[in-house]
Amino acid sequence: MIFALTTFVTFIIMEGVTWCTHRFIMHGLLWNLHEDHHQPHDNFFEKNDIFFIIFSIPSILLFYFGVDGGLNILFFIGLGILLYGIAYFLVHDVLIHRRFKWFDKTSNPYLKGLRKGHKMHHKHLGKEHGECFGMLYVPLKYFKAHQTV
Ligand SMILES: [Zn+2]
Ligand SMILES: [Zn+2]
Ligand SMILES: [Zn+2]
Repeated sequence: MIFALTTFVTFIIMEGVTWCTHRFIMHGLLWNLHEDHHQPHDNFFEKNDIFFIIFSIPSILLFYFGVDGGLNILFFIGLGILLYGIAYFLVHDVLIHRRFKWFDKTSNPYLKGLRKGHKMHHKHLGKEHGECFGMLYVPLKYFKAHQTV
């Protein structure tokens, strides 16, 4: 039970971590890697995809040490990060950016709100003055705005 809770809490914390990394690192020090994600292009891959590799390193390490002498709590932290990574990929890369044509015709209001929030993030082509840096958490106004459309 404590393990399941650990995984769940890690997942929630990851949204905060993602917000901060996106806000301060991707739109900061490592903007040159994230920049092509904000520009129109025809390539399937983006330099921005390197972040998938960077973000997978902590969970790989946690899995490695989490099975050391029997399963321990590190494994479940790693699992939380992995699940968040999968959710992020499905929402950001598949649902929003349509890199794969899965579940295209969603009418789920939560998913539509997510899409709208992230589109606002992409209104900004540059490094500065961004908004909506989170992914699974979207400010309520995007859901409300949607209902009037
Ligand atoms: Zn961005
Ligand atoms: Zn995006
Ligand atoms: Zn931006």
